[in-house]
Parts: sequence; C-alpha cells; structure tokens
Amino acid sequence: MFFGPITGLSFIISLLVLLVGLIIRPLVFIVSKPAKLFSPVRKKNKPLMAAALIVFTFTLYASVTTFVIVETAKHPRTTMLAFASTFIPCDELYVSPSEHNVILRLDDVQAYGWSDVSIRMMDDAISNDMPIVAGIIPKDLAEDKKLVNFLERESCNIEFALHGYDHGAISDFDEVIGEFEALTYEVASEKLKIGIDEIEKDFNNNITTFIPPQNRISLEATAALEEYNLYLSKSGKGYYDYDAKTWNYDDNEPISATEVMKTCDTVFKNGDNLCVIMLHPQDFIDEEGKIDEEKYSEYKKLLSLINLSDFSTVRFSDMIALHSSK
Ligand SMILES: [Zn+2]
Repeated sequence: MFFGPITGLSFIISLLVLLVGLIIRPLVFIVSKPAKLFSPVRKKNKPLMAAALIVFTFTLYASVTTFVIVETAKHPRTTMLAFASTFIPCDELYVSPSEHNVILRLDDVQAYGWSDVSIRMMDDAISNDMPIVAGIIPKDLAEDKKLVNFLERESCNIEFALHGYDHGAISDFDEVIGEFEALTYEVASEKLKIGIDEIEKDFNNNITTFIPPQNRISLEATAALEEYNLYLSKSGKGYYDYDAKTWNYDDNEPISATEVMKTCDTVFKNGDNLCVIMLHPQDFIDEEGKIDEEKYSEYKKLLSLINLSDFSTVRFSDMIALHSSK
C-alpha cells in the first residue's frame, strides 16, 4: 500500500547503511595503512582527510537522525509519509468572501467510516481551488493514519469543525436522538473538551464551529459551546446553519448538483450572503459502502458549477472573521 511500513525507524536504518558505506574506506585506511584513500597519487594529510570524512558523515547522520526522532515523536501516530510531507509546505488557497459565499460542510469525517470517500471529496474540492470544512468525529481519529496524513498535508485548506465526540445515537422508542440533543451543560462541556483534546493531540488547526450530530443540540449544550468559543452550524434558520444538502432524507435519494445550486441561488436572492452546503461521504456510496462513481459525478459537477458561478467558497472562520471585524 502507498502508506506502507516506511517508518522513521526504517529511514534511520537505511541512513545507517549509507553511513557504513561511506565511512568504510576511510576506516580501512586508518586501520591498515597500505590501503589508499581515493587517488593513489596524493600523499598529503591522508589520515586527517579520512578522519574529517568520518566526522562529517557521522555528524550528518546524527543530525538527520535527531531530526527524524524529534519529528516522529511530535506525530507518534502518523507514518513516515506524514513526516516526509512536513518538508513540503501546504499550498494555501486564496480565499476571499464576496456577496455570495458558499461553505462546503462535509460531515462525518471519521476514522475508517468511508474515510476514502471523504479524502477524495476534500482532495477534489482543494484541486478545484476550494477550501472545505471537515466535520470531524474525534473519537479514535488518530487510528486512521491515511486520513490523519491527508488532513495534516492539506491542513491549510481544510477547516476543522467538531462533529460531536463519537456521534453515538441512542435509540429512544425508535426515535434517533442526536449525541448532543439531550445533554446537560456539564456533560456537553466535558464531551466538547475531550473531543477538542483528541483533535489537538495531532493537529494545530483552530476549531471554530460545532456541528451537532443529527443537526440537533440541547439548549444547555448550546450554552456550553461558548466556553470553547464555538459557533453552531445545525439545521434551522441560523446564519451558519446548513441551507442546501446533497441527499433527500425524506425520499432517500440524491439531490442533483443543479438543485443544490438553485437552493443557494434562492438563499442569495433572499438577501443572505452565505449558503452552507451539507455533504456526507455516505451520499456518494453504493450498497457495499464503496464509492459510487455515478453518484460521485454529481459532486464533481457541483464543484464545477460553483467554479462557473460567481460564488466564493469560504470557511466558517472567514465569515466569523468578517463579522467580528465589522
Ligand atoms: Zn453526522
């Protein structure tokens, strides 16, 4: 696999092999005088040169190894690829809010649960010069190395939003109750804290927004958001609540890209300057849980329609900054 077992350790070992290869000749030279270092003609300072070569090679090895160990320790759960990506800075997109702003809100970004689809969706948005908001379910996030590596590599173009802690839904007389729907202030506050801690273990990204699972949240839990300076994006008429979606839950069928665009058009015609589009990786999978290319082509169409329109794709933080500067 692409993210195979190339770890910091194997990198160090391969450097060690290189080190041995480099110093073997000068070492042999020092130990047994008759051996020749490089050219047989030069006679000057051979022992000095051999020693310098050994010191140089060893210093190089020691410093690279230290760097690898320090970086690996900083990101203990990620593989070498994530470490390697630290050499390549994230290429930040230019984001500028306008009269018509769109936020791509991708919910249910979580360890293993359709994370391949989530990665592709985020990657395609970024390839189309659009930032995207990942509604992250923090529980066990770090265990999905491929997802964590991707989030790290593209962290400058992905805004992190907190999407519950484990998204756990309890069933009460057949009705699904959202994770934060019935919580007291104290329990909500504790859950928010462990969720934020879980994400901050691996990322420095600032979390500005909370997306309650099932888009529902109790009044007490809403009050708890203030403790962590979190804005709320749920279902409803609030400024940051979602306006459009890519799945019709009533009829259990996809909503076309054209319909989504129309919904946002209506939002803007009604005088609002923000249209939040709720997306789920599950909107684009087949019955086996794999990506459904036909369904997925609607997502790609949506991205190209946004590109063709006068809509600006922004993040919650851009709009929050815009409002707080007024
Ligand atoms: Zn969700």
